[in-house]
Amino acid sequence: MKPVIGFVGTGAMGTPMAQNLLKAGYPLVVYDLKDKAVEALAKAGAEKVFSARELSSRSSVVITMLPASPDVEAAVLGSEGVIEGARPGDIVIDMSSSYPTSTKMICEQLAVRGIRMLDAPVSGGTNGARDGTLAIMVGGAEKDYEECRPILEAMGQSIYHLGKIGAGHTVKALNNLCSACSMVITSEALIAAKRLGLAPEKVIDAINSGTGRSWSSQFKFPTFVLNDKFNSGFSIGLMNKDLEIATRLGRELNVPMFVGALVQQLYNQAVGRGGGDECHTAIIKFIEDWHGVEERNKEGG
Ligand code: NAD
Repeated sequence: MKPVIGFVGTGAMGTPMAQNLLKAGYPLVVYDLKDKAVEALAKAGAEKVFSARELSSRSSVVITMLPASPDVEAAVLGSEGVIEGARPGDIVIDMSSSYPTSTKMICEQLAVRGIRMLDAPVSGGTNGARDGTLAIMVGGAEKDYEECRPILEAMGQSIYHLGKIGAGHTVKALNNLCSACSMVITSEALIAAKRLGLAPEKVIDAINSGTGRSWSSQFKFPTFVLNDKFNSGFSIGLMNKDLEIATRLGRELNVPMFVGALVQQLYNQAVGRGGGDECHTAIIKFIEDWHGVEERNKEGG
């Protein structure tokens, strides 16, 4: 029989991920701070509850998909949190993009009560969440990973067990470090091309046939940037948080991240200028602003 899953955090990613669990036949209990966020899932057959504590008392596997580590700490360790309703042997899977040191601390606190934990952050955006094609990066005990693999397979396609608790969150932050850097460098290339009067679509097509291509140039620029839609569902604020995690790891490990630190400052200034809720691909607008170049979607003149 399939275990009851409790899902905490039903936002842009959590809702489609939880929908896929329902489709795979898992009984689902859902909780979000915002009542409205659970509506779609409640209509689709999930049971809505009013605290993380109530949620964990009704499920044996709890998934968290929350903005950042302070939210995970509050939802799991708070007085109305998962830890208060869970039983020994239950398992918490944090699928948020979190700070690994916090993840290890939460895991230790849960372990005192016999509750197990995996970290399993994802990559692939809201489209990947909807289609069940996410890449999932897992940290934690091998045995717990094997037990939870069918649950992860209902949400993702490529699943990697990378090491002990925190390993998934570490690799996710490093992935987004690479992703943000390619976003920024492709923006700079496009702005230079624009200054020369070249057509952005043709420039991106050419880069995509060359060795400068990346997921940013192949997918994000055509899908969100060149058409001015900027609707990836992943914000500048969340990308800034991931860059902060990656560069903090670099500082802790004495691994200099010259390029990463620079790109983090770029995202940080965009947040400081009020752009935290904008699509992360809109970083090009902030860079354009410095260069006095606009209309990236128009033919060069
Ligand atoms: P979101 O802001 O859309 O959703 C987060 C939800 O968590 C919100 O509905 C919020 O009300 C809820 N929440 C916050 N604190 C809570 C608490 N203490 N208890 C219960 N609910 C709480 O964020 P998202 O885009 O779904 O991202 C979630 C995580 O996934 C983040 O760590 C993000 O970095 C990561 N991520 C996002 C994307 C993306 O494309 N959006 C892709 C990969 C990874």
